[in-house]
Amino acid sequence: KMTKPADSRLVLLGNPGVGKSALVVRFITKRFIWEYDPTLECTYRHTTMVDDENVSMEILDTAGKGESIHQEGNINWGEGFLLVYSTTDRESFEDIVNLHQHIASVKKTQNFSCVLVGNKNDLTHERKVGQEEAEQLAVDLSCCFFECSACDGGEAVDESFKELHRDVVRRRMVNSMRR
Ligand code: GDP
Ligand code: MG
Repeated sequence: KMTKPADSRLVLLGNPGVGKSALVVRFITKRFIWEYDPTLECTYRHTTMVDDENVSMEILDTAGKGESIHQEGNINWGEGFLLVYSTTDRESFEDIVNLHQHIASVKKTQNFSCVLVGNKNDLTHERKVGQEEAEQLAVDLSCCFFECSACDGGEAVDESFKELHRDVVRRRMVNSMRR
């Protein structure tokens, strides 16, 4: 039996260890898992309410570095990208620019949906990335920015996925009117 295609295809990208798997599990199950196989690449199908509408998302949790050549298939597949760094890991933040450029080069356009997500903000004493500089990066990339923790049940995790979904749907509409 053929299932209806999902309303959006979302991909989590970011350096190993930033919490991509923890975030997707938090979003889908509302729970936090401490250890998740770091090499596992997994696609989830999730149905949820966005703006009073029941929508379905396919979510791909990637493993390995986002800029690697191996991610090209994933980037081609995806319509929206959660660019995830850890607020405790400067390098993961500095790598976001390269990741964004890499997606643009694979997609052959700057016109793609993404959100910037700073995870692990529960680790206040280990913070290495300020909120203002991340806000500035989001302005430069013209995308939304969320700081969150996969550990707590805050709204920010949910909102980052939902806002990305909205952006995918919006951009699709605008692009179809252009043609
Ligand atoms: P991935 O490689 O990007 O998929 O990262 P994981 O989801 O496997 O998480 C890497 C490690 O960071 C694990 O030990 C998680 O328990 C931990 N972790 C993930 N998110 C958070 C968070 O929001 N806060 C804290 N304190 N730890 C986190
Ligand atoms: Mg993982």
